[in-house]
Amino acid sequence: MFNVLERRFNIFGFPFWPQDFFLFVICMIIGVVFVALFTVVFGRLFCGWICPQTIFMEMVFRRIEYWIEGDRGKQIRLSKQPWNAEKIRKKGLKLIIFLFISFIIANVFLAYLIGSDELISYITDNPFNHINTLISLLIFTGVFYFVFAWFREQVCIIACPYGRLQGALLDNKSIVVAYDHKRGEGENGRKKIKKNEDRQALGHGDCIDCFQCVHVCPTGIDIRNGTQLECINCTACMDECDSIMESVNLPKGLIRYASEDNIEKKAPFKITARTKGYIAVLAILTGLLIGMLFLRNDLEANVLRLPGQLYEHKADNIISNVFTYKLVNKTTRDIENVHFELLSHKGILKLVSTTNHFTVPGQQISEGTLFVEIDNAALSGDRNQIKIGIYAGDKLIETTTANFLGPRSYR
Ligand code: SF4
Ligand code: SF4
Repeated sequence: MFNVLERRFNIFGFPFWPQDFFLFVICMIIGVVFVALFTVVFGRLFCGWICPQTIFMEMVFRRIEYWIEGDRGKQIRLSKQPWNAEKIRKKGLKLIIFLFISFIIANVFLAYLIGSDELISYITDNPFNHINTLISLLIFTGVFYFVFAWFREQVCIIACPYGRLQGALLDNKSIVVAYDHKRGEGENGRKKIKKNEDRQALGHGDCIDCFQCVHVCPTGIDIRNGTQLECINCTACMDECDSIMESVNLPKGLIRYASEDNIEKKAPFKITARTKGYIAVLAILTGLLIGMLFLRNDLEANVLRLPGQLYEHKADNIISNVFTYKLVNKTTRDIENVHFELLSHKGILKLVSTTNHFTVPGQQISEGTLFVEIDNAALSGDRNQIKIGIYAGDKLIETTTANFLGPRSYR
């Protein structure tokens, strides 16, 4: 859950708070380094196999489109033909199904923002009690419909910043979906196949110029022109070319996973210095993150002096300061029997309008006001740092410090 509005985050069942922002930043940097490392070695594999845009597009929307309108040729014919009953039926059915799926995706997206429990309560309640959420949901539905029904691969080509990074990350040693131009072009270039011809003797390559790899490419590129930014490594051209090669009795793998060096020089895969550098950085950052996760306390405490308040001089030379406290329970379970103790000085610590022992519910914040009273003789001047311990039962679970004001000392 990424509840940006209430600044609550829950990742794989672990609640995170804005106070954990540094962990989030390290996670983001690890993510970026990991993707960079992955891209340097395997090219844009993420785009073809992990990115939700491709998964929804290829596994859901395009399949439905094929099911309703037929293969690419039939789709082109349907688009060109005048509006008749068949076209209205097919296009209408596609529109309704696409809108419905976009609505479901918008709901899932919303669940990431507000949490699934909240979403289910909204769904089971009267939708007009949550009209703002409903409007947002419809806007999201429109955006998803626009992306999957119309914008499609333009997201990968124009909008995606990761796609734009490819040029900087890939090199001759990166493994990408590549056309073996040496084999495909031969000495005299590619040529359509003819029955019983001896292509080797004629010096033609194995590419029979059938254009199937271009037709199946979701981003509409011709991989035979070399690695291009638009290629999302979906391997559709690889599969298609393999089946063409099989049908003309030529070896498969004319389009395959390979590096430029592998095709040009038959060089095997090697871990380069750049890859080793990324691995080292990734290992350091991951170690740092694991260490920080272990050091992360279940409860975070903040005690601050009430703004604008000085101190109060009480009977028996006792100095009193008033503070506000905020306890953040970063776990999903309740922390019971919580109480404060003054660790640095002899004195009294009293909570206002609550019992001194209380419960901080799971994933919740407890806030309040407290008084600290210390004998003036124990203070060293007007500014003193006090240390407060927060206990759950007998166990010290967190410590925090605060500034305690006293009278100026002229000793
Ligand atoms: S599918 Fe293979 S044989 Fe056909 S044009 Fe593409 S690379 Fe050449
Ligand atoms: S079909 Fe081939 S060229 Fe087109 S995006 Fe997929 S892998 Fe790249």
